[in-house]
Amino acid sequence: MEIRFYNTFTNATETFQPVESDCVRMYSCGPTVYDFAHIGNFRSFLFADVIRRTLEFFGHKVHHVMNITDVGHMTDDASADGAGEDKMQAAARRVKEDKKSGRVPEGAVQDPDDPYQIAKFYTDAFLQDAQTLGVKVAFESDNILHATQHIDSMQEMIAQLIANGHAYVGLDGVVYYSVESFPSYGSLSGNTLDRLLIGAGGRISDENQANKRHPADFMLWKADSSHIMKWDSPWGLGYPGWHIECSCMARKRLGRDVIDIHTGGEDLIFPHHECEIAQTCGATGKDTFARFWMHARFLMVEGEKMSKSKGNFWTVRDVLEGRATGTQVHPAVLRLELIKSHYRSNMNFTRKGLLDSAGAVKRLTEFRTRLEAACGGKAEPVDLTYPILKEFAEALADDLNIAGALGAILPWASSTPSDPAAALGAFHRINEVLSIAPLGSTSSGAALDSGKHAAIEDLCRQLDDARKRKDFAAADGLRTEIQKQGYDVKTSPNGTIAEKRLA
Ligand code: AMP
Ligand code: ZN
Repeated sequence: MEIRFYNTFTNATETFQPVESDCVRMYSCGPTVYDFAHIGNFRSFLFADVIRRTLEFFGHKVHHVMNITDVGHMTDDASADGAGEDKMQAAARRVKEDKKSGRVPEGAVQDPDDPYQIAKFYTDAFLQDAQTLGVKVAFESDNILHATQHIDSMQEMIAQLIANGHAYVGLDGVVYYSVESFPSYGSLSGNTLDRLLIGAGGRISDENQANKRHPADFMLWKADSSHIMKWDSPWGLGYPGWHIECSCMARKRLGRDVIDIHTGGEDLIFPHHECEIAQTCGATGKDTFARFWMHARFLMVEGEKMSKSKGNFWTVRDVLEGRATGTQVHPAVLRLELIKSHYRSNMNFTRKGLLDSAGAVKRLTEFRTRLEAACGGKAEPVDLTYPILKEFAEALADDLNIAGALGAILPWASSTPSDPAAALGAFHRINEVLSIAPLGSTSSGAALDSGKHAAIEDLCRQLDDARKRKDFAAADGLRTEIQKQGYDVKTSPNGTIAEKRLA
């Protein structure tokens, strides 16, 4: 089946074909770890997770990587200039207050003046939340890339850009990218140099104009011995710009000059992704960095973007523990809420929406239990000719039309299929993509650990088989194995249930 995705680069919905048939290479901009990620951030991360799972559903192997920005993301990120203060620096002040209020627990971040401790605390919190919501890449430590661990490669790329005539050392000692050296600057965002010069909405800062060749030139390396995090470099003790980290790590970890898909939220189109294209193409000499640029629109609160800087945000924990809406919900409910509207429309976070999602998760989970009871838990493999799976696949292939897919699945989940084993097989395949029908209890205490779903489900089935054979030694071994992976093992009339323990 032909998969079609909207490409921000061409402003068109196009047929997706990987550059190389063996594997889809995909990069997602991850969080800046100076605070807890909020559910708006997670709308973007879950969008990337659904793209990956969709491609896997259609049989592609996907190498998906995500970065952790732990240096170089400045508070004035709307300009392409590296103006403002490093967000990690700002965090050091805030964390001291947060420790007093209990928002950061007493034992954590022993020394708030140590940015590495701050970064570690929020990186761990992010990965835990991402795993709770079933973001697959968060289970793959090799594919989570920390900017501070790749400084040497960033310096190599900067040196390459200087050698290729795309970068220079400004009068203030900062290494700048020369946007005039890259004629197609602006092709992603529409912010071409002539438009920027007319002053398109204050999108470039003129603070440093005297030091650089063009007002839109952006920072690659800044020598600053007073900065909160710094490294030796040919251009002085200092730190890298935010944009260079993604260009560098995507190429290094994915091992290609041209990758298939690059994702982020809509605010990253300019300057971040525009600058990434200039840097990568400037270093590789190719005219493309990513074939598909895909962006999620914002999660809104009362008409405004949910954002850390505005303070109008809820974290994953706020929602799951009931602080956001007064009702505790299972992680699957929040996951569904954040993926159910089309990614190219803004969505509003509301209590009503969340409760509707809770109803849908309950319906799906009960449907699975009914199917398991009807076929003794033995699912039959089905292909895309199976009617509901065909409808699901067509909706996904149509630029990730999850709302359309749910429009078919939810009525199906109220029916009583005459072929429960095949229906269960279809259900499993659907749930591998959406991951909204959790194993075990749907109470808020159970985390959604869908990166392990299939493996754990398999162990539960083996345990049931061992019990039936009265091979109690094997059953005990399997029980211990499931427990070791962080699950409580429970027995239900439909067989073994594994319930994830929250850390
Ligand atoms: P940050 O931690 O600020 O670097 O952002 C991480 C990701 O979240 C980026 O891809 C942003 O574009 C995205 N993002 C930030 N706010 C929102 C929002 N309200 N809705 C959707 N995505 C967002
Ligand atoms: Zn990025």
